[in-house]
Amino acid sequence: MTRQTFLKLAAAGIPAAGARAQQAAAPQTNPDLGFTDTPMLPGLPWHVHDPARPHPQQIRPSDKPGGPPSDAVVLFDGGDLSRWVQRGRGADAGKLVDARWKVGDGWFEVAPNTGDLLSREKFGDCQIHVEWASPTEIHANSQGRGNSGVLIMSRYEMQVLDAWENPTYADGEAGAIYGQWPPLVMPARRPGEWNSYDIAFEAPRFDGEKLVRPAYVTLFYNGVVVHNRKEIRGAMVYRKVATYTAHAPEEALMLQDHHNPVRYRNIWVRRLNGYDRPEA
Ligand code: MG
Repeated sequence: MTRQTFLKLAAAGIPAAGARAQQAAAPQTNPDLGFTDTPMLPGLPWHVHDPARPHPQQIRPSDKPGGPPSDAVVLFDGGDLSRWVQRGRGADAGKLVDARWKVGDGWFEVAPNTGDLLSREKFGDCQIHVEWASPTEIHANSQGRGNSGVLIMSRYEMQVLDAWENPTYADGEAGAIYGQWPPLVMPARRPGEWNSYDIAFEAPRFDGEKLVRPAYVTLFYNGVVVHNRKEIRGAMVYRKVATYTAHAPEEALMLQDHHNPVRYRNIWVRRLNGYDRPEA
């Protein structure tokens, strides 16, 4: 056997024929792949550097910064709104109907007063990427200017607002966990320029109606951390203290119709499934 073949087999965790006898005598055949004579990690079924610990699933990152990696659920890639629905009005009240927001060249826009957009697919713990731009025609001020929102699980709002020279209350600024926490800093871009939100979200846990663990959110706003695993105090509410009401473990991602033609593009979500998943 050539040295190259031996190394290839060893890398695959397969002891070569000549090495099997050696392995029986000494189980630590290949320290490159781990150890079993090390201490156990407290509270875990693994040794330190355990060779049996599952390896993470291989995924392919996007070629472009901000693009969806291979395991993302792409909700909008510049095409159509087929991955979304909205709440019907008038004769369709109480129903979910096809999304009616305006689709442009690589983006879509809130169609004011037609209702919020909801993803057809539902998510719990997840990573979310969203890009948005405030309208260039400036009307009104404060919460009336470029208002929309990314509502995780249809209720935990990361505020979207024209934050450019637009005084408003701090916990309602762009990047705020609306009504709870202002962003740590304000990295807003001008109206018409694209902003990005990159979110890591831990869904709340309920035991029946009882809250067992609140939701936590990390938000990168234009690449800047504005919330760092911040506890969310409850569902978005206006002029009231937020509270939790039990809901399903997965819920739709929602984009808010707050009557302003805010634009969105490049939206994708990845489920966060936790550590030590069995290898496929
Ligand atoms: Mg809003």
